[in-house]
Amino acid sequence: MRILLSLVLTCLITNTRADVPIITNGKAMAIIVTSDRPSQVASYAANELALHIEKATGIRLRIAKESESSRAASHLFIGDCEASRAAGIDVKQLTPEAFVLRAQGNDLFIVGDDKNDDPLDADTRAGTLWGAYEWLDRAVHARWLWPGEGGTFVQKTTSIVAIDVNETVPMKLFQRKIRPGLGMESEHPAMGFTKAAFEQYSRDQTVFLRRHRMGRSFPMGYGHAFTDWWQKYGNEHPEWFQLREDGKRGPKKSTSRFSMCVSNPEFRQQLVTNWKAKGGKFINACENDILGTCTCALCQGLDGPAPADYLTYYSPSSKMVGSRFVSDRYAHFWLNVQQLAAKTDPDATVIGYVYFNYFQAPTSGVKLNPNILLGFCPSGGFFPRSDAEHAWMKQQWSGWRDTGARLFLRTNHLLDGYCMPYIFVHQFADEFQHAARNGMVATDFDSLTGQWSTQGPTLYVASRLHVKPEASVDDLLAEYYNAFGKAAPDVKRYFDYWESYTATHRESLAKSFEELQASRWRSFAKAAHAIFSLECFAPADAILDEAAKAVANDSEASARIEFLKLGLAHAMLCVRVASQLTIAQPTATKEQTKALLEELIAFRRANERKGIANFNQLAWVEDLSWKLSDETKQAPDLYP
Ligand SMILES: [Zn+2]
Repeated sequence: MRILLSLVLTCLITNTRADVPIITNGKAMAIIVTSDRPSQVASYAANELALHIEKATGIRLRIAKESESSRAASHLFIGDCEASRAAGIDVKQLTPEAFVLRAQGNDLFIVGDDKNDDPLDADTRAGTLWGAYEWLDRAVHARWLWPGEGGTFVQKTTSIVAIDVNETVPMKLFQRKIRPGLGMESEHPAMGFTKAAFEQYSRDQTVFLRRHRMGRSFPMGYGHAFTDWWQKYGNEHPEWFQLREDGKRGPKKSTSRFSMCVSNPEFRQQLVTNWKAKGGKFINACENDILGTCTCALCQGLDGPAPADYLTYYSPSSKMVGSRFVSDRYAHFWLNVQQLAAKTDPDATVIGYVYFNYFQAPTSGVKLNPNILLGFCPSGGFFPRSDAEHAWMKQQWSGWRDTGARLFLRTNHLLDGYCMPYIFVHQFADEFQHAARNGMVATDFDSLTGQWSTQGPTLYVASRLHVKPEASVDDLLAEYYNAFGKAAPDVKRYFDYWESYTATHRESLAKSFEELQASRWRSFAKAAHAIFSLECFAPADAILDEAAKAVANDSEASARIEFLKLGLAHAMLCVRVASQLTIAQPTATKEQTKALLEELIAFRRANERKGIANFNQLAWVEDLSWKLSDETKQAPDLYP
């Protein structure tokens, strides 16, 4: 009896399992089907599926409209359509950007919440596209290491089966954002991309970011909120603005930055009045790009006691030195604005930045709530950090989290490193994951510098964590390294070398940057040579030579090693130029270094279509770091 029952059960299980054959022994078994009038997102997703399946198998699946689709052995239904509705998938029931993966009978459904708009626009909800990428991740181990064809890895195979699945997958973060860094302009454009190369770079990077599911569930506006308030309200209401040490209100000079008198009740009310007139769910209450400096009694009365370690982790030249700790006054300000707005809309959400002298977690015991959304924006805190500083940084996240506010990561640390092999992936991932485990709802990283060939592991993991925040960082790195085939252990060794180099040079970097007055994000090229001596490149170069030998018979992996080698050669060249042209070295003349600069520009022209780096970003940094010739003010196409 028991045997019979188990046989029956086995049959039932066998009958209900729905593994769907897509490609069998090099033969197409499925067609890709969209609705007769697919959304732009669904059409794009269908193409992305066909493209990656072809890359894995050599077989291009046919894409058909639903009414034209002849009966194939199996179907990949992409996006909302008659068949998905008949299968009971109701896209209106999905949370924003969520998707359903379901195998049923001989069909696989990938259906999500989409907005019918440009699939490459970060504001287009693209659940179906996210579903396609999730499925490609599982079925062919699709990995997007860097933008463009060379950075796209899929596992080669002759058969693909969509295994039985029935999942509804919501987005873990309602905004996933690494600012693309495509708008950088230099006074010396010859150092950057030609126009055509920039267009290709931009397109490839945009596609890449969407493949990592960058985007958001709804539009959300924020940023330094009061920059035009002095002009608008300064005459009539100077009392809304910072009270200065000299007893006057407002900016010191008409062009100076200023902060607000955030304790002023009429100022708070005006902010809410303006929001009501404009509408929407979000109230932008991010202080201007400056410390909170109001010295009035009401503001100071809201301040909590300064923590003992308040200034421990700031450099001697930081604007923070000598500042007053004002986190609690801002917490009270956001809370009060939220309470005022709640009279109109209980769901209204106030957005603030925790930044400068209102970055460290409050100390007065003030309690906030989830309708206050705070961007975690440390000034300083670049990677790598000492263990103590890193722990301190995570404590600030936890401290704000304990107020009851919702938080998003809004850091500037990815702007660091110029084009150097500057790797801090483990510490970066640890901070991201600490945030993810402790209530992070969104990200906004400023910005992607696009140094794919020298900083690949950090950028890959930063992108990948947006999809898999809970994954082990070493597993994610293994995904990256495994795309180098038999050279995977060498490539791991190569980047471990640089991560260790970066970590061990933490203190000398801080010292050199102080001495040469270089900024981590604006003028790294002023001091790059002080950290990355030409000698430090030799062992790394040797590892890549070994890696190249290991994959001599694997053209795809060889090309990836070549990509890393180009990045390293470019970094070395930039170090040579930096040592000659840095504005920190007053004796350098542009005549002396003309040949060297031309070598760098020629290198960039020769390699600008390979996606090794965003040269426009570098040109912007170099503009602020180097003594450049007037010739480089020409467009790159016109440069001799
Ligand atoms: Zn004040």
